[in-house]
Amino acid sequence: MHEAGLPLPTQSNSGQARCFCGATIDVAVTERHIYEAHMMDSQLA
Ligand SMILES: [Zn+2]
Repeated sequence: MHEAGLPLPTQSNSGQARCFCGATIDVAVTERHIYEAHMMDSQLA
């Protein structure tokens, strides 16, 4: 686990955000991306 949990995506003034994994995600799908791309794969001990 990360020391401070999942780092929040950096949101720009264009409405898009850059996830810590490098993926460019829209603010509308940020939570969905985090969940599907990261939460779902949290079985790595
Ligand atoms: Zn990501």
